[in-house]
Amino acid sequence: MGKINIMSENLSNKISAGEVVEKAASVVKELVENSIDALANDIKVELINGGLNGIKVIDNGIGMDKDDALLAFQRHATSKLLREDDLFFIDTLGFRGEALPSIAAVSEVDLTTSTGGVGTHIKIKGGKLLVNENSDSLIGTKIEVKNLFYNTPARLKYLKTEATELANCVSYLEKIALSYPNISFKLTNNERVIVNTSGSGNLKKTIHEIYGLQVSSKLIEIKASNDDYDIYGYICKPEILKSNRYHMTTIVNGRVVRNNELNKAINDAYYTYKPDIKFPIVVININTDPTLIDVNIHPTKQDIKLSKISGLTDLIMNTIKNALYNNLLIPSALGRIEATNDVFTKKEINKIIEDNIKEEKKEEEQTELDLFTVEESPLDIVSPNKEVKQLKLFPVGAVHGTYIIAENEDGMYLIDQHAAQERINYERFFKALKDSKTTTIKTLFPITIELNASEALIIKEHLDFLNSIGFKIEEFGINTFKISEHPTWLLQGYEEESIRRIIDLVISYGNKFDPDKFREGAAITLACKMSIKANMHISKEAMSELLDELVKTDNPYNCPHGRPTMIKFTNYDLERMFKRVMN
Ligand code: ZN
Ligand code: ZN
Repeated sequence: MGKINIMSENLSNKISAGEVVEKAASVVKELVENSIDALANDIKVELINGGLNGIKVIDNGIGMDKDDALLAFQRHATSKLLREDDLFFIDTLGFRGEALPSIAAVSEVDLTTSTGGVGTHIKIKGGKLLVNENSDSLIGTKIEVKNLFYNTPARLKYLKTEATELANCVSYLEKIALSYPNISFKLTNNERVIVNTSGSGNLKKTIHEIYGLQVSSKLIEIKASNDDYDIYGYICKPEILKSNRYHMTTIVNGRVVRNNELNKAINDAYYTYKPDIKFPIVVININTDPTLIDVNIHPTKQDIKLSKISGLTDLIMNTIKNALYNNLLIPSALGRIEATNDVFTKKEINKIIEDNIKEEKKEEEQTELDLFTVEESPLDIVSPNKEVKQLKLFPVGAVHGTYIIAENEDGMYLIDQHAAQERINYERFFKALKDSKTTTIKTLFPITIELNASEALIIKEHLDFLNSIGFKIEEFGINTFKISEHPTWLLQGYEEESIRRIIDLVISYGNKFDPDKFREGAAITLACKMSIKANMHISKEAMSELLDELVKTDNPYNCPHGRPTMIKFTNYDLERMFKRVMN
């Protein structure tokens, strides 16, 4: 009988359990994916103390008959384990046939399941079958896992605190809910509801159910395709950002995947719309021919490799860039103030998740903090923010010589004068740096710059490039260079300083010099340096000019470092703040 089989394999199950089951969330993941395989459209996860003291998953799927139920606890018993290249051809998620036996080997499992007829109730502890009896005939499966790792103390100590285990379970469930908007998911901890989605089949509604109104009201829909890939989903406006990259959800053919190249493409698309250390909330479904996908075979990994990935990353990047470009609005002040009525516990959980991820991603983060390359979008941007370009702002005055107050018929605006001018200068410099026919001017006196030997070597290597962007630079003795001509766009009075900054930047890239990155970086540094500082009083005429120029830029909302340039208070916001209106 099945019984004997189960027990004889107990030992190997115990050993392998650690590979598949590492934490409460991996148990939740296995059970939930089994429920999805069973075609459930309603899945409830009930945790006790973050899963440390109990994990229960209840679904309304097709259930199992007695034979299948017993078979499910045997290693390699299911037909789901296929050749590695088959993984993406099958609809089922649970390709790891050994998950259930592994869990049962290191815990107490209580299973009730039925296909509609007489049900089955099975209890297994440490791999031993304790109860095997009939039960009532609910359709679906209810499975409870208790005392995880009670017989493997070495594993037990890897379980984290209740808060951490809970955070992991919640973040898993949120991701899976986003990839299955047609399934209703509910997660409770000690009977408190933490995740609850309706299974409406509507992705936007699901995002709303997970992230709340603050996020769902700031979504932009995206949709695009190329020969190999279709993408569809939502991105958030840069007003809503997270401090980790965990909220960039990519789903390939229905499966949540982690792929650094995809994350980088998403993040790069937001370049200059947000600070480098903040990350957007994005949910993108990617559909493609399964033959383009290569799955990492480790069962707990969500990594995949994609062929023709550059076509996909270009598609994602350009689609998001265009969406941002065409949909941006000035962040409204009240939208932000009211943004914080999240349930306290949920915030706590997010904090824990964020901290966890921070740890994990530190390394990755560091490489990503490099300057990103911004390429010209090959897609035609014909309809730039028309409304904004026609926006007329009238300066009223300035606070501390730092924030300009402006008004128009729609309301009141606060504009950071440094950030605003930085944006204007940045776009001007960036364009100038890309212009091959830039006009140049002779310096009054040649400027000489002395460097150390290694710096001089780097500059020597890039003399041609520097000449091509309008600087006439020659070697002038040992480790010294003479500049006798520079482009006209350098700000008057700051020529020498600008040149020094450009030389420094070339040196800082060293042998990783990339012309595009350089142009981007040079435009940002020069823009920051050449813009009016805070605490500097300027005339109303100058303010007016500044505002006119700002609204004409490609992205008037952010400085090139991604900070906001302006915040809007609509007339309605003002009325609300002074309680002239009451809702
Ligand atoms: Zn600055
Ligand atoms: Zn800035």
